[in-house]
Amino acid sequence: MTAEDHPGPPRSLYVHLPFCRRRCAYCDFAIAVSGSDLQDRYLEALLRELLFVSRSGAVGQPLETIHLGGGTPSLLGPTRLGRLMEALAAGFSWAEGCEVTLEANPEEVSPAATRDWARMGINRASLGIQSLSNPTLRWLGRGHDAAQGLKALGWLRESGIPQVSCDLMSAIPGQSTGAFLDGLDRVLRFQPDHLSCYELTLEPGTTTRRLVDSGRCRQVAEAVALEQLRSARARLPAAGLTRYEVSNYSRPGCESRHNLNYWKGGTYLALGAGAHGFLGGPAASALGLPAGCARGVRYWHYRDAATYVRVVGQGSTGIRSSEQLDDSQLGLERLALGLRLTQGVKVGEERLLAASRRLAAHGWLEVEGERVRATPEGMEILERLTLELVAA
Ligand code: SF4
Repeated sequence: MTAEDHPGPPRSLYVHLPFCRRRCAYCDFAIAVSGSDLQDRYLEALLRELLFVSRSGAVGQPLETIHLGGGTPSLLGPTRLGRLMEALAAGFSWAEGCEVTLEANPEEVSPAATRDWARMGINRASLGIQSLSNPTLRWLGRGHDAAQGLKALGWLRESGIPQVSCDLMSAIPGQSTGAFLDGLDRVLRFQPDHLSCYELTLEPGTTTRRLVDSGRCRQVAEAVALEQLRSARARLPAAGLTRYEVSNYSRPGCESRHNLNYWKGGTYLALGAGAHGFLGGPAASALGLPAGCARGVRYWHYRDAATYVRVVGQGSTGIRSSEQLDDSQLGLERLALGLRLTQGVKVGEERLLAASRRLAAHGWLEVEGERVRATPEGMEILERLTLELVAA
């Protein structure tokens, strides 16, 4: 690790809102499909944890980013979301221009909802469109259709929320490259400020994984998956979107500052069921987490929303466990995350620099002084490159 990697006080906060109308066929996130009673009790627990954290001394600096993720945070409705935003404003000081992101699904987007969100201080919306092919959306188990996705995007563009991001998926079984690119082109007509374009992963235990494993669906061939990503990559610069991370593209200045902080190995607080946080030793101690002489402490909450509500009700913070990380663990994590960024990562250790130079000879990495970055070809095999570096 280099001196610039020293984990400082947290300036980012992640809040997990785990509720969804249904579980999408590919999803293995910490979510709850339940009625409004659990949502109310969850919000009370979340506000209790928020109060504890805000008074703990773990946050010495104004927050630069707040990310309301899920789950489907937009499902919370204006009253609950308003209470949460008020509590966030009362509990923490926010830096000028603090990025406040709300993840939303098309079903909950309406002109009235977007006005509420803008009024509450949400200045970045991230919309889960995923595909604009109706059979594909049904296969994914999504609750919206293509028309709803585009309508939602249009309303967000008109809402006055300064930044709008879209999520699209590639490599979905049954969706042709033509259909994927058609969807991409239709989204780009709305000139989103940011686009996340992820390959569908078939997570163990999900319906999509079972469908593929049982032979009822064919997994997308690697060459086709690659063709989709390369075609998207080729189209996006003309739409003003520049790649800054393996799967993320933005207009200048519209990068997700919250996610950039993760990828740069920065510290962040987390609230809510299943949420993971990462803090330097002093901030972790302020939360009552064992820190010893660790450089960084990772912690995570009870994953199940009802369990989280119960333990917070019994006086706990909702944090289930934590792990102390030393310099070498942090250095490797920072390397793996930093290589995801097109700007690359600063590598202090000669052993890693030497291994990077060997991989650079194959055209997968570029090494400039102590900075190592993946080439576009290297980005396609990033996991393998990272493993090779870590094993060096
Ligand atoms: S909306 Fe998102 S979080 Fe909810 S089930 Fe679908 S993929 Fe998972």
